[in-house]
Amino acid sequence: MVESEAYLMRQKIAYFSMEIGLSNNIHTYNGGLGILAGDTIRSSADLKVPLVGVTLVSKKGHFRQEITSDGKQVEHPDPWEPSEHMQLLSTEVKVQIQKRDVTIRPWLYTVKSQTGGVASVYFLDADLEGNNPEDREITSFLYGGDERYRLKQEIVLGIGGVKILDALGLRVRKYHMNEGHSSLLALELLQKNGMDIEKVRNLCVFTTHTPVEAGHDKFSYDLVREVLGDTVPLDVLKKLGGQERLNMTLFALNLSNYYNGVAKRHRDSSKAMFPGYEIRAITNGVHSYTWTCESFRTLYDKYFPGWANEPDLLVRADGILDEDVWRAHEEGKKVLIDYVNNVTNAGMNYDTLTLGFARRATGYKRTDLVFSDLEKLKKANGKGRIQLIFSGIANPKDDSGRKLIEQIFGYMQKLKEEIKIVYLANYDMDLAAKLVSGVDVWLNTPLRPLEASGTSGMKAAHNGVVNFSVLDGWWIEGWIEGVTGWAIGPQPNENVSAEEGRRRELDDLYNKLEYVIVPMFYSRRGEWIEMMKNSIGKIAYHFNSHRMMQRYATEAYL
Ligand SMILES: *Cc1c(COP(=O)(O)O)cnc(C)c1O
Repeated sequence: MVESEAYLMRQKIAYFSMEIGLSNNIHTYNGGLGILAGDTIRSSADLKVPLVGVTLVSKKGHFRQEITSDGKQVEHPDPWEPSEHMQLLSTEVKVQIQKRDVTIRPWLYTVKSQTGGVASVYFLDADLEGNNPEDREITSFLYGGDERYRLKQEIVLGIGGVKILDALGLRVRKYHMNEGHSSLLALELLQKNGMDIEKVRNLCVFTTHTPVEAGHDKFSYDLVREVLGDTVPLDVLKKLGGQERLNMTLFALNLSNYYNGVAKRHRDSSKAMFPGYEIRAITNGVHSYTWTCESFRTLYDKYFPGWANEPDLLVRADGILDEDVWRAHEEGKKVLIDYVNNVTNAGMNYDTLTLGFARRATGYKRTDLVFSDLEKLKKANGKGRIQLIFSGIANPKDDSGRKLIEQIFGYMQKLKEEIKIVYLANYDMDLAAKLVSGVDVWLNTPLRPLEASGTSGMKAAHNGVVNFSVLDGWWIEGWIEGVTGWAIGPQPNENVSAEEGRRRELDDLYNKLEYVIVPMFYSRRGEWIEMMKNSIGKIAYHFNSHRMMQRYATEAYL
């Protein structure tokens, strides 16, 4: 009791994110951004960083993906029931949207960590009696609706979130905006602090996640005026958020005194987009305990007691016996292959070299790159069998993403006599955990430089799975050729044309598969296990969210 009072008194870091992946049954995440937010909160609880999360309740969730036998994505509603997981608080605040008062209340979810730490997450809900029926829907759909709907959500998250924390009596030391969706919190802080920009900047931390200009949220000032009202002078908004449209990234940059990209390469591309801003880099990490499968947890418990709260202990992975690593891997692989054979009729084998690829089905992720030359893929398969497991959802509005899934089904059909391939529906946290611990090789082929960081390869490394990836995002920092994994295509500092880049990617993809990866897996198991240990000892030990949060704490929060 005394401790919890002391905890209440401590100044908090308020971490705002449109999506947070806390557990598989709470469908308020879409992909990497939300999982990162979840890992941030899990590590904060472990490390006893006094951080509270703020997000929207998104009661109607994202969607549940079904894929028809010819590869068409069908979206089903995916609601969830907050009262089964969290407690509705009686505290309420009002925000103005389209000149109407909208009342908001928070649900409180408590994350309890392995080490006895806790972190509170507030899920904001506008579905309250007394609110206009249209307004009651604002916190229903994650990333649903049009621009207007999105702006309303951002008002509830940013402005409503600051007000709720005040109403709850929390003392906030820093407000951390995880991506520009929550930038309007800085507007609320401006109004609270007599429009004192310096004061607000000292309160705000901003992490950008978007490596291209088109990815940043921007709203026309007409829409802003209509939805947000006119309590803030337009010239102030324009000065901070851009003359043409309100650019949420720019707005956050101008109102923070610490801002960062999510990998070193991403820092460089962000600096190029926003010259003059001293953008830092804190490379993402994943929550080690969450993303390590049962058999590897047991293994690490034996060799490195306390590893879950001190993942840098994994640096000593060289000392693990080969047979222990292989046995733990076989267990993880069995879980996945059994699952695959249960939900499909693929008849996959435990002993076959298995490549995994799971990420959002969207153009730049290039799920189809491995099928660019079917003859070469067959040739690699001729040197020793391979099998491929895919997963990933397409954004409902992303027609090219949907088409991508259909194309993969087309290739599966063409190759069905030779190579076992499956595409698993409904990629979520549980499926991700099975995939990153059950394959032998984790494949990643994004179009450079569009992968800001990427995190699934870090999850794979925690389970001794070896990365084979285009040099983009975090992999530039994790990669040592032939030691921690293999690169696909040119190095980041090489200036090559798009065609040349693609040619070299395909060369690496097929040549390394045929002449390096397949032979090593089947004929030089000792070397393979060495690489598995390097994944653990040279990647997982560093690319985890404990290291990430320790850096946020010392550089951004203190
Ligand atoms: C980890 C994870 C992601 C992000 O992975 P990337 O490598 O960044 O694409 C997306 N979705 C789910 C369900 C995840 O677990």
